[in-house]
Amino acid sequence: MNTKQPPTSLIMLFGATGDLAMRKLYPSLFRLYRKGKINEHFAVIGVARRPLTQEQYQANIMDSVQSALENVKLDDLKRFATHFYYHSHDVSDTESYADLKRIAEEMDKKYQLQGNRLFYMAMAPEFFGLISNHLKSSGLTDTKGYKRVIIEKPFGHDFESAQELNNMIRNSFEEDEIYRIDHYLGKEMVQNIEVIRFSNAMFEPLWNNRYISNIQITSSETLGVEERGRYYDKSGALKDMFQNHMMQILALLAMEPPISLTTEEIRSEKVRVLRSLRAYSDEELAENFVRGQYGPGTAGSESLPSYREEPMVDEQSNTETYVAGKLKIDNFRWAGVPFYIRTGKRMATKSTKIVVQFKDIPMNLYYNPQEELNPNLLVIHIQPDEGITLHLNVKKSGKNGTTPIRLNYCNKSSDKMNTPEAYEKLLFDSMVGDTTNFTHWDEVALSWKFVDAIARIWKENPEPDFPNYASGSMGPAKADELLEKDGNMWWPIEDFEIESC
Ligand code: NAP
Repeated sequence: MNTKQPPTSLIMLFGATGDLAMRKLYPSLFRLYRKGKINEHFAVIGVARRPLTQEQYQANIMDSVQSALENVKLDDLKRFATHFYYHSHDVSDTESYADLKRIAEEMDKKYQLQGNRLFYMAMAPEFFGLISNHLKSSGLTDTKGYKRVIIEKPFGHDFESAQELNNMIRNSFEEDEIYRIDHYLGKEMVQNIEVIRFSNAMFEPLWNNRYISNIQITSSETLGVEERGRYYDKSGALKDMFQNHMMQILALLAMEPPISLTTEEIRSEKVRVLRSLRAYSDEELAENFVRGQYGPGTAGSESLPSYREEPMVDEQSNTETYVAGKLKIDNFRWAGVPFYIRTGKRMATKSTKIVVQFKDIPMNLYYNPQEELNPNLLVIHIQPDEGITLHLNVKKSGKNGTTPIRLNYCNKSSDKMNTPEAYEKLLFDSMVGDTTNFTHWDEVALSWKFVDAIARIWKENPEPDFPNYASGSMGPAKADELLEKDGNMWWPIEDFEIESC
């Protein structure tokens, strides 16, 4: 892997006119181009069904970049857009792959791409296996350079379907050629978890059950299901967010220090965490997991509809838009430490944060022995703010007693927009062959098996109380009770924003 020279690549993008391509992929590629991380040796063949001329496609690329980014130099953008070619093609049409192969070979020569090919599946998941088979049978994967495939989420809807999909893709690609996207792994502060843990003498010695009381991971959205009702009603928060993003964050927080920072070593430590997750009985699952569905509510003066009133959602839907769980990791480091995870839509705040709560010191020597000190917290802000906050106690200025204070670090991202940043990094990684921040099949398999058990008992026992939280709230009361049973509480992350960020 040579990261010094800009990588060369032909990117064949299936789903070139879709939302993901327009909002995230084109702006991210442009950022890479503007920074010189990719240069003149790249080309994109955009594939979708609708008829578009080359000029229309290139104009769409320019619009997409201009709506996402500021200070775009028109000359740069025009030059960038000349690298894009459109091919109208229905992915189920076998014949048309021969045309794609011919165009790929032309691009290869024109841009000296050394036969390097990246196939990006930015389409509905039911097409992933089909496209992958066609890529092989048409000879598109017979190339003298690298061949890699990027797969968008969701990777299956349970373990069985994920395995079936994986087997199909494995007919055409080796495991190390498969880049399963979890865009949370491209986020700056998610990548920072390892650095915070493993490069600070003050954290790693404390990072265990002797000093940590509990760890809380929250990913809350203020938006509802928007236009995604058709997909979401079959999926729900457990499969859409928990199985992938939340469990990946958990693995990074709980893993042992890898012996080196190679992809294999990091992955093997993450896999060990997922293997150590306590497999709950059905009764324990019911006790330790809470589901929610949003009812009507308000945001400021705006009234918000309930989930069941959203477009393309079943009026009697039993799909959860919120999940909270208490997970246990059965190993020496974490025995006895609960990991609380929650994620939901239409909540009071848009925020992804990790709160690491340290154990209390034995007694409060200061001023009032009956008054409890605030516990020390390490807050990792993933989005929208990026940074860390350390909650400590200090002396009240000029008085006796203690007062809590916060030490903040704000990681100023260049453009304040997290998600395109993540795609930018992940696209680059896939071009240079770095799979560290993509999900390996072993991780996908273990997390699906864990989640399938929850999905099964929820399906067998529809929730009679849906909807059970108001839009604009922080979720159902049962999720608070989950922590109260342990003498804990969800920290009010809505008040934890870094002011200077
Ligand atoms: P989308 O807006 O519905 O786009 C689908 C794309 O597929 C369009 O370009 C469509 O173009 C093309 N297409 C559909 N059927 C086709 C066929 N038979 N042959 C060729 N092209 C076909 O979907 P999206 O939101 O971009 O999502 C794409 C993937 O990314 C999904 O797996 C989704 O779960 C994942 N994802 C999306 C986001 C996001 O923010 N959008 C975030 C995370 C993950 P034509 O209609 O012109 O054929």
